[in-house]
Amino acid sequence: MTNPRRPAAFLDRDGTLVHDDGYMSRPEQLRPMRNAAYGIRRLIALGFVPVVVTNQSGVGRGLITRAQMARMTDRLRRLFAERGVRFAGVYVCPHHPDDGCACRKPKAGLLTRAARELKLDLKRSVMIGDSDRDVVAGRTVGARTILVGRKAMGRPSADHVARDLIDAARWLSRTASRRSSRTTLPRP
Ligand SMILES: [Mg+2]
Ligand SMILES: [Zn+2]
Repeated sequence: MTNPRRPAAFLDRDGTLVHDDGYMSRPEQLRPMRNAAYGIRRLIALGFVPVVVTNQSGVGRGLITRAQMARMTDRLRRLFAERGVRFAGVYVCPHHPDDGCACRKPKAGLLTRAARELKLDLKRSVMIGDSDRDVVAGRTVGARTILVGRKAMGRPSADHVARDLIDAARWLSRTASRRSSRTTLPRP
């Protein structure tokens, strides 16, 4: 039996899942955005596998240790697990922007690595974030893209601009149902 590849909802962390308070180093600083967990539960119900993809250059800049970053990731997982969301993966780019790594968004390295490890279908996936970097990374792998939050106002680059993750899920469910109703039509 083949294991069909599943679509991912790639989720940016800061400004998308939790409030963006700059270079956070302590787990207590993570505050989930309003509606984030509920929105992700709806994405899961639509068949998307939730995967976090986040730039954390504070590590490369020497502002946060790798151990602190690991504790932050544990805390992120726990906060969302308490709200009914289990992330299939949390992928972090720890590098400095000058390192020239392949994983710092807008590069797509985190997404392609997740796709390989978690057997995801990139073309049917969606990248959701609050910055143009997220949109570019999503486009690079052929995924759909959604910009969320205040910074997204008036930016036309994404496939959709959403108020929050609930709004994003609503848009995806509309486009998904349009697609499936089309596929039920008889072939010519
Ligand atoms: Mg962000
Ligand atoms: Zn990197």
